[in-house]
Amino acid sequence: MADWPGESSDLLFVPLGGSSEIGMNLNLYGLLGKWLMVDFGTSFAGETLPGIDLIFPDLSFIEKRKRNLLGLVLTHGHEDHIGAIAHLWPKLKCPVYATPFTAELVREKLKEEDLLEQVELNIIQDGKPFSLGSFEIRYIPLAHSIPEGHALEITTPRGVIFHTGDWKLDPDSTVAGPASEAALRTIGKKGVLAMIGDSTNVFNKEASPPEQSIKPNLQKLVAEQKGRVVITTFASNVERVETVGEIAEATGRHLVIIGRSMKRIIGAAKKCGYLKNFPPILKEEDGGYLPRDKVLILCTGCQGEIRAALNGLAGDVNKKIHLSAGDTVLFSSKMIPGNELPIGRLINKLVARGIKVITEKDADIHVSGHPGEPELVKMYDWIRPRIAIPVHGEPRHIHAHAELAEKLQVGHVFRPKNGTLIRLAPGPPEIIGEVETGYLALDGKRLLSLASNTLSERRRMMENGVLAITITFDRGGKLAGRPVIQPFGILCSANDVQLKLDLYDLIMAEISTWAPRDEPHARFLEEELRLAVLRLFRHETGKRPLISVTVTGLEKG
Ligand SMILES: [Zn+2]
Ligand SMILES: [Zn+2]
Repeated sequence: MADWPGESSDLLFVPLGGSSEIGMNLNLYGLLGKWLMVDFGTSFAGETLPGIDLIFPDLSFIEKRKRNLLGLVLTHGHEDHIGAIAHLWPKLKCPVYATPFTAELVREKLKEEDLLEQVELNIIQDGKPFSLGSFEIRYIPLAHSIPEGHALEITTPRGVIFHTGDWKLDPDSTVAGPASEAALRTIGKKGVLAMIGDSTNVFNKEASPPEQSIKPNLQKLVAEQKGRVVITTFASNVERVETVGEIAEATGRHLVIIGRSMKRIIGAAKKCGYLKNFPPILKEEDGGYLPRDKVLILCTGCQGEIRAALNGLAGDVNKKIHLSAGDTVLFSSKMIPGNELPIGRLINKLVARGIKVITEKDADIHVSGHPGEPELVKMYDWIRPRIAIPVHGEPRHIHAHAELAEKLQVGHVFRPKNGTLIRLAPGPPEIIGEVETGYLALDGKRLLSLASNTLSERRRMMENGVLAITITFDRGGKLAGRPVIQPFGILCSANDVQLKLDLYDLIMAEISTWAPRDEPHARFLEEELRLAVLRLFRHETGKRPLISVTVTGLEKG
């Protein structure tokens, strides 16, 4: 299917996710009618989408072209880059490429969804280049807040693309082994057509500090505490986990790990050769019996997740370990925008029990894995692309990143949003169209389009309540009993007696105007009554409940 004039010959780029938000990255490169997909991520839905856990990019554009999809290449193992695979891979059925640690995380997800046997998961070792159609791809290691963060050097007959993935400059990272400045300059010298890159921290005027810089601060804080110490962080930050292990040894505390994802990541990291000198992990129940100043607990839940380990400790529902007044919780993490409320609730629970809370606002105990402005400036200087395409950001990040690239005199700078189709070559690069985009929500086990009205109905039910009215006529056209009124989440209080009577009177008055003289159709009556009831509720309560009226026994129109 070639919808675009140059789809069969031009070098194209289009993001389907991650260029209108931070999260759910999905980028596509097209050449000779074939497509290469980079990353396949998810986002957490937040509190505005009731009942929804995850959202994904709408795949319609690439689903229609799945026969021409050469493969999915994963830059690294964060959820916003791999989290959609286990849910949406069956729609695409393409081979997947990843480095060992990322592949290990993907494998576990596929196993959970019973897909492991079906997915061709290719593990790329030691930076060996590999080819998919006319794309030759090489993983370039860069430091990030997870092992095996990578840029991709994608060589095509129409030019070289440098896709940065998520990155920061941290030459001393103990797990990353990042490419040196010289290696990156060498890529730049060969001539790079386009750099597609991370915009997350463009507003930071300072470079992100090295991961190891927080270790002395964290260690000092742990050493000062007399009670139990809990450190919570992002499970996937293996270098941070390694640091916590070292601090446990240095401060004479035994390490206890709580949280499924923390245990899972530690297992995957060890399997891939990381965490070689990690101290022995104590069982949770043993941690509960040790003197309080001999325990260091590492756990999940730094974003206030209800089901995570830290929330269990805060609410004292963990059966094996009970925190008490004088214990300390260190948040070695940042507050992800949108999570302020749940994190606030979590901290309140802890503080109310006399547990001390220390966050990155109180001490330097967290660093970001994304590049601040000075790092971006360096990368542009080293790679020297002719085209800059900022991705991995909300519009405000992407625009600021584009302004920076213009200031650095990159020849062509774009400000994409999801669906912006850009021709990179041949000829001057330009936006040549918009492709279909949108969002899919995981609702239990099913996928819903966010554009459908299911979720707006659900929100309305949540905010306004529901009223179901059933009216039954007998064969003679007379009312068969009283109308049945079922309220949910509305009309619950004792003060509603008058409103209930008014509602009943309204229904009866409406019905009296119907039958039998003009034999009206039931569907028309249902709508008429629904609007009348809605008017009553708006007038009396200021609410707009979701109202369902069912009339049976009359002829349906
Ligand atoms: Zn990342
Ligand atoms: Zn990311």
